[in-house]
Amino acid sequence: MLIFTDSRCLEYETVGHPERSFRVRDSERLLRERHPDWEWPSFEPAVEADLARAHMEGHLARLRVAERFDSDTAYYDGIFEIASLATGGSLAAMKAALAGEKAFSLMRPPGHHAEQDMAMGFCYLNHAAICALAAQAEGISRVAVWDFDAHHGNGTEAILRTEPGTLYVSIHQHPCYPGTGLESKGNCRNYPVAPEEDPDAHMAVLRKSWEELLAFEPELVLVSAGFDAYEHDPITQMSLRINDFRTLGQWLSETKIPTAALLEGGYSEDLPELVDTFLSGWSE
Ligand SMILES: [Zn+2]
Repeated sequence: MLIFTDSRCLEYETVGHPERSFRVRDSERLLRERHPDWEWPSFEPAVEADLARAHMEGHLARLRVAERFDSDTAYYDGIFEIASLATGGSLAAMKAALAGEKAFSLMRPPGHHAEQDMAMGFCYLNHAAICALAAQAEGISRVAVWDFDAHHGNGTEAILRTEPGTLYVSIHQHPCYPGTGLESKGNCRNYPVAPEEDPDAHMAVLRKSWEELLAFEPELVLVSAGFDAYEHDPITQMSLRINDFRTLGQWLSETKIPTAALLEGGYSEDLPELVDTFLSGWSE
């Protein structure tokens, strides 16, 4: 297993905000303790040519303007560079996957709410969509994104829905932020799940969505791995148990399709255990 992380992503924080630096810092510490054989390669930030496949020039400029984006998405000094570094971790994981490795980008900020021209929902750059388009630029013709974060990835859908050869599959709580993803359209397949849904029923929906993704016969799978569908997550009302994340990882390990995963949400103090459980299931 290759883990891509960089301590520069710990350098921003708002007191009381759920998207805090412990998420990456404590997850890294736990994974290094438990898996001394896993590798931690270094990587470079994404370059603007990669970002520009998914985002408008004006958006990339706006990320350098010191004004907040919405009520829960602040401006931080250097946030453009930090978000570009997080995209770089995802791109490195994607390239490692195409070279036959299992790879996870353990970075922040997350990305799946960021649209072509808008930062929102703790997200500034859409790492998954940027990776999908970068893979296509490298000749990978069929790319699927599987997003099991508790929130709908409105940004990934908005960017990929006009892109032939891509599939976006999202399983998310509804009703919930951001309020999108109620129905499937074209290459964007949405699976809304009710708050407090029985975890076995939720897992059955996840399995159905995974089989739909496999039926697309992708050459590359990118996983928007959010851990906020966990029963003790403080900002959602879903019910997945810790070992359900092991099952999701095991599904990845059963396929021979190159697969890279990247951290999206997940705000409970148990996040390091959730990440470890998911990656351990995948590495089996
Ligand atoms: Zn989320």
